[in-house]
Amino acid sequence: MNNQSVNRSHKKKKTRLKPGAAIALVVLLAVVCVAVALLLHKSPAVDPLTDSSASPSSESTTQTSDESISEPASSTDTSIENVITTAEPSNDVTTEPTKSEPVPTSELTTAPHPDELVTSVNPDTGRIVVDVNREDWNLIVVNAGRELPEGYTPQLKEILGCGKYLDYRVAPYYEQMYLAAKADGIILTPYSAYRSYDRQKNNYNNLTKSYMSQYNLNEADARVKAATVILPPGTSEHNLGYAMDICGTESSFSSTKEYAWLQQHAHEYGFILRYTAEKQPITGIIPEPWHWRYVGVEYAEKIKNSGLCLEEYLDSIGVPY
Ligand SMILES: [Zn+2]
Repeated sequence: MNNQSVNRSHKKKKTRLKPGAAIALVVLLAVVCVAVALLLHKSPAVDPLTDSSASPSSESTTQTSDESISEPASSTDTSIENVITTAEPSNDVTTEPTKSEPVPTSELTTAPHPDELVTSVNPDTGRIVVDVNREDWNLIVVNAGRELPEGYTPQLKEILGCGKYLDYRVAPYYEQMYLAAKADGIILTPYSAYRSYDRQKNNYNNLTKSYMSQYNLNEADARVKAATVILPPGTSEHNLGYAMDICGTESSFSSTKEYAWLQQHAHEYGFILRYTAEKQPITGIIPEPWHWRYVGVEYAEKIKNSGLCLEEYLDSIGVPY
């Protein structure tokens, strides 16, 4: 009797479980169907991210025009475009830059005050060796008379996944500027960003050697002549990792809509036009409308409004550099 009742109760249990199992099965099937439907629906939406033809027409126009000038590689442009398109929904990238400077590392906060800059002179070049650890790192000046310590390598961050790098503290501002410009239908294609000290050194030395034989110059004279074409190692803002050369849609960058946009907005992201014709006697560099250098949002606005170049502005406010 006991066994029978047990069996009966088992049978009853089985019978009672069946509808539950059926419902569970139906629910499971429904979930699978929804998942499959979602996947099928999502697949075509992924493709446009890798398809440049899906870009808005204004960008496609820019892209085509970019390819007509010799400087940028079209493959690079495509990869930038893809990354930007993918990155757009991210809140991190689209948020406005804060007014404060990026958080300094502990190493930087213990750096000497600007009044106590640690500088020395390189006996080989006669140039001042700048203090790369100064607290206001965004104001470091390199030029014909001031160079980075030999072999200086900044901590770098890649820009927009395009294989070009800037100092890690500067890169986020370039990315924010790029996205803001893109929202206005302007593509600020990064062309030349960070260049290593060694690469600058090799290029400069090669040109010096070439001038020695080509013009029958001694090494000192050849170096001076080479410096008019390639900046000596450590004296370029590209070695510092603070500057970006930006491509335009025309061969003359100063007549492009990209340049016009930068003139209007670059300071909002901390960048200044570094080399103008007017200031060539001070900077020693030919006008470079494509070369934009980071100094921080606060200083970019002040420098822009002052009409002074970086060296003049720092002199005017008594900040040593
Ligand atoms: Zn440049």
